[in-house]
Amino acid sequence: GAERTKNVLILMSDTGGGHRASAEAIRDAFQLEFGDEYRIIVKDVWKEYTGWPLNNMEKSYKFLVKHVQLWNVAFHSTSPRWVHSLYLAAIAAYYAKEVEAGLMEYKPDIIISVHPLMQHIPLWVLKWQNLQKKVIFVTVITDLNTCHPTWFHPGVNRCYCPSQEVAKRALLDGLTESQIRVFGLPIRPSFARAVLSKDDLRKEFGMDPDLPAVLLMGGGEGMGPVKKTAKALGESLFDQELGKPIGQLIIVCGRNKALSSTLETEEWKIPVKVRGFETQMEKWMGACDCIITKAGPGTISEALIRGLPIILNDYIPGQEKGNVPYVVDNGAGVFTRSPKETARIVAEWFTTKTEELKKMSENALKLAQPEAVFDIVKDIHELASQRGPLASIPYVLTSSFSSLI
Ligand code: UDP
Repeated sequence: GAERTKNVLILMSDTGGGHRASAEAIRDAFQLEFGDEYRIIVKDVWKEYTGWPLNNMEKSYKFLVKHVQLWNVAFHSTSPRWVHSLYLAAIAAYYAKEVEAGLMEYKPDIIISVHPLMQHIPLWVLKWQNLQKKVIFVTVITDLNTCHPTWFHPGVNRCYCPSQEVAKRALLDGLTESQIRVFGLPIRPSFARAVLSKDDLRKEFGMDPDLPAVLLMGGGEGMGPVKKTAKALGESLFDQELGKPIGQLIIVCGRNKALSSTLETEEWKIPVKVRGFETQMEKWMGACDCIITKAGPGTISEALIRGLPIILNDYIPGQEKGNVPYVVDNGAGVFTRSPKETARIVAEWFTTKTEELKKMSENALKLAQPEAVFDIVKDIHELASQRGPLASIPYVLTSSFSSLI
């Protein structure tokens, strides 16, 4: 007979832009591969159901990454397992009921966490509910290399690691080979599957059809030295002698409104477009020839799929540090914190060093893993099939869990 539609709950948080992009990638891939077999719910559960400090994660994160030294301390001081286990246990005891209510509402057959802090509490709740055997719980890690140990929880059915480096860390932290799969970072299918012509995209966006184009961004929050770099490019991409531009600039500021409004009032000698949060990044990347960004894993993986050479100009200490050698050592880009240096490199790529640009683009395409998200959802589908038709899961709301511990 017809099988019941299975509920998939994806737990994410709007810190940065990467977690949401990964969640959307998984959702879209499920829909493309399996249509109505799965109902996908993407939820920032903490924001909706719990109080401080979890519903404030977005704000605290923004505050901390703006003050990088604080983030550095937060990242490293919570690394030992006993520290974060204690901390999360305290929070779990306090918020168990709310998290439970969240799970009750969506009755998930499968839970997918794409956030480092969303393993412990939902897994506790499943345990209290006696549901660990019935509900499939998987983690999809969205950091490429130096990720935080809260990602790793031995109680998961699968832990999808984007790279061998992360898989090694998972093994060291007590996960078994059978729990780990390495497919790559999940990127929205619109990056992998769409056939886009650069000429058409430039027409659509009203860009110059011939001038080489550089895309400048800083993750979902528009972080890093975007403004200084934009100004330096405004100079370096203008040929003083000929009195004309040698390139054009696209700046995607993400949710950083202060940044976009100051950049909009600037006067430029070259063609420049200043944009806010864009929902079709695959198109903007497809219209450009190289990218400047902080070392966000999402942006890096997307740029690799589009074959864009990358200038990394910043990284968030801790989880993004390892992304720098990943790009540089594989010949897909360079790292420099200096806006002047960045501007000089782009000008060279567009004039005397076009061969280097081309080589780096080829290396980027070699590293790209556009199929990773499909491998992940197919593996989850297989896990679900092994359990046979998932029985209706007996979610019952009990009121006394938080008093148990
Ligand atoms: N992004 C987007 N629109 C924007 C800016 C960023 O969709 O205007 C997406 C970008 O394509 C990427 C994610 O946000 O998928 C940023 O993730 P990343 O891991 O690079 O950095 P984060 O913002 O999470 O620190």
